[in-house]
Amino acid sequence: MINIVYRLKSPKFFEESIDEVELDGVIVRPTHLSICQADQRYYQGSRPANILDEKLPMALIHEAIGEVVFDSEGNFKSGDMVVMIPNTPFGEDVYSPNYSYSSKFRGSGFDGFTSDLVNLPEDRVVKIPDDFNLNVSAFIELISVAYQGISKFKQMAITPKDKLGVWGDGNLGFITALLLKELFPKSKVLVFGKHQENLNLFSFADEIYRIHD
Ligand SMILES: [Zn+2]
Repeated sequence: MINIVYRLKSPKFFEESIDEVELDGVIVRPTHLSICQADQRYYQGSRPANILDEKLPMALIHEAIGEVVFDSEGNFKSGDMVVMIPNTPFGEDVYSPNYSYSSKFRGSGFDGFTSDLVNLPEDRVVKIPDDFNLNVSAFIELISVAYQGISKFKQMAITPKDKLGVWGDGNLGFITALLLKELFPKSKVLVFGKHQENLNLFSFADEIYRIHD
């Protein structure tokens, strides 16, 4: 199957290339993508020149959902909406791929999701329930990052959890504060940030602070 991949060749310059997609695993057509700060740093050229030389050309974006086009195993129907998992385990350590040196990450170690079609192994694809908002679902990868942090915190923290502070008023701070509010309903969630217009959006938080105050 013919595929077009949109790769960042150098800062602020993309190139299109025609590629072949093999019909094995799950083939997904990305529909909703979210831009990470990590993508911005490649696009703006704010990473060191040797890193840019080593990684580019590369398709950006690791936060995305899409529509299944084909599944060789038949577990997914065409038209199913799915989240694509950017982390891909290689080698032995398949139990904690997030922490394994042999894992590769899309949009960092190899091509991300800016292509017409993406080929993924079955276990790198998760079906999205029918009633999910697809614009919000584009953030599921980012939500999983916040959720992972909170799960580890829950396992390890032995201090009281009646007051929880979140530093940061960007989207990761917003998602983390919102998850904390759901997962620790009895705790107060305090948000510390720099931007009043962002902080105003944290209407569910118990207290907000501007750090320069
Ligand atoms: Zn990210």
